[in-house]
Amino acid sequence: MFLAVEIIKKKRRGLALTNEEINFFIQDYTLGKLPDYQMSALLMAIFFNGMSDLETNSLTKSMLNSGITIDLKSIDGFKVDKHSTGGVGDKTSLILGPIVAAAGIPVPMISGRGLGHTGGTLDKLESIPGFNTQLSLEQFISAIKKIKICFIGQTKDICPADKKIYSLRDVTATVESLPLICASIMSKKLAEGADGLVLDVKYGDGAFMKTAQKAEELAMALMAIAKSNGKKVSAILSDMNQPLGRFAGNALEIKECVEIMQNKSFRNSLGRDVYKETRDLSIKLSGIMIFLSGKVKSESEGILLAEEMLTSGKALAKFQELCEIHSGSLKDLPIAKNVLEVKSKSSGFVHSYQTEKIGMCGVKIKAGRSVISDKIEPTAGIEFFYKIGEKVNSGDILFKIYGSDLELLKTIKQDLEDSVMIKLEKLNPLPLVLKTIY
Ligand code: URA
Repeated sequence: MFLAVEIIKKKRRGLALTNEEINFFIQDYTLGKLPDYQMSALLMAIFFNGMSDLETNSLTKSMLNSGITIDLKSIDGFKVDKHSTGGVGDKTSLILGPIVAAAGIPVPMISGRGLGHTGGTLDKLESIPGFNTQLSLEQFISAIKKIKICFIGQTKDICPADKKIYSLRDVTATVESLPLICASIMSKKLAEGADGLVLDVKYGDGAFMKTAQKAEELAMALMAIAKSNGKKVSAILSDMNQPLGRFAGNALEIKECVEIMQNKSFRNSLGRDVYKETRDLSIKLSGIMIFLSGKVKSESEGILLAEEMLTSGKALAKFQELCEIHSGSLKDLPIAKNVLEVKSKSSGFVHSYQTEKIGMCGVKIKAGRSVISDKIEPTAGIEFFYKIGEKVNSGDILFKIYGSDLELLKTIKQDLEDSVMIKLEKLNPLPLVLKTIY
């Protein structure tokens, strides 16, 4: 028998909680036996005093055990998944999934929806006419057996504790806590039943973790939990100081991914292929996934195989198969009725972007949502033309804004103009992938 108030007091004093205390708190809260105010108090005590690795592992396990674990054992082969901590224009799942599946490796993708300034894979896929992400677990497993890949959303039976606690963290200013983030992400990932996991941990203005150091701390902590639960895992630290690739916005991102899988390029006024970044990051992550699966002996061999899947058109064919199995048709991707241009008022070099602010501009034009019940406008989005360090002249187009409601598009013009800083001195951009950790 435990008393919730004693557990809160213990954590408030900075002492470590036992496995049993953590289990009691999580179980009773999930069942509605403990009130929100006691969980809020515990979350704030954890926020200030942290948790040891042992405690974080216990928290992860009790959140995992609050719901079901998907049993993927009936699917042959090493199952590998990817998780990104989220960003603006982050669309790599739509390319790496088909690449890895085309290489013969099963990819069970349980994806999320966009919330706040970051996008979500399910919303992107649902901008494809007819695409149905509401498949049952049986349909999900049978699709992976048939074509090696399928996407579904989180079901209400997976980690119900996280669903409840995450909503509470959102309104009690306790989101940015390393043990709470780790337990939240990893409980869901462990419940999904894959054998291997690649983590794309973003850092920078548009990311959850604003510095590379914080992102590395998160990556190490997530990996430690994965390893102690018997999963093969790797992480990269990737730059989110500027939006990724050409577009942010659901149907627009699908267009970008399809064109990359069609081996098309799109050049800005300086001759740079704007698609190269999304392509490179997708290939890198695919290469690591293929390596983790044991199909090849090194990451570089994995990258070579990933390149082959992409350039041969096999990844595109796999994406088309995927659309068919989800009843989607790529033929009539919706196109925005209106387009607005945002031009540079000065000449110089792009110095920085306020990427989170750009993501919020997307939310304002309904490319994203601020509460989970908001309805997405699939054609809404923003196009980017220049990366940090590139030269721009006065009058060059910096952004294009897409969507159906012209008046709404106009409301973000000034914010976008303010979100980019142009200076006379040239800043060297950070590498897209700062580090790979095994
Ligand atoms: N994503 C999650 O699922 N949980 C967190 O706490 C943060 C990011």
